[in-house]
Amino acid sequence: MAAKNSHSFTFEENWEEKKRRAKEIVKRLINHYQREKLLTGDPYKTLIYCIISQRMRDEVTNKVGKMLFKKYKNIENIANAPVEEMQEFLRNNGVGLWKTKGEWIVRTSQIILREYRGRVPNKIEELMKLPGIGRKCANIVLAYGFGKQTIPVDTHVNRISKRLGLAPPTVAPEKVEEYLKKLIPEDLWIYINHAMVDHGKRICKPIGPKCHECFFQDLCPYNNNLIKKEDIK
Ligand code: SF4
Repeated sequence: MAAKNSHSFTFEENWEEKKRRAKEIVKRLINHYQREKLLTGDPYKTLIYCIISQRMRDEVTNKVGKMLFKKYKNIENIANAPVEEMQEFLRNNGVGLWKTKGEWIVRTSQIILREYRGRVPNKIEELMKLPGIGRKCANIVLAYGFGKQTIPVDTHVNRISKRLGLAPPTVAPEKVEEYLKKLIPEDLWIYINHAMVDHGKRICKPIGPKCHECFFQDLCPYNNNLIKKEDIK
């Protein structure tokens, strides 16, 4: 890999070389992070958890999600709850952006009930029309709720893909998704999401990545000074 001035990648590498490197990256991820079964089989719960989770720690999301479904047993109960009551519930349980999220949870449930007969749609375009559901959440619902192969690009996947030079450092998350989908076999798309999330939490942290402990040292442009911290958006 040689350094380069470019509008896209910051280093020289042709597509075949990148594909080979991506293959090796996937191989090493599989050696370190299990291919566990993460399918929830419940698209509605996955969707509600995803709304709660925005800018929240996993522990809080999991705790509040469980409490919410204990209090409101099903989609009908949530859709019929007053928005203020849902907001109050979220606020009392330490959820940030409680006002917006409370409204999203109730409104989205009402729409699913009214327009989709209570069944969460399984198309990305339909999911993205629901209040509070952006591309990342839509992909999470497809992947972990329905078991469809896709790659949700969250903050970890975005950062690691760029540090590893699999996607250009300044592109939007949907572009990162496109690059990853071209570089990685389809049957590994869901796996790549959760393996990168694990890697991002344990080693390739947002601030102070532990490159000295990382099994990607030799093939990581960031570790080899071909991508700088300030290049990544
Ligand atoms: S070598 Fe450093 S920057 Fe590269 S993937 Fe590992 S932790 Fe992240």
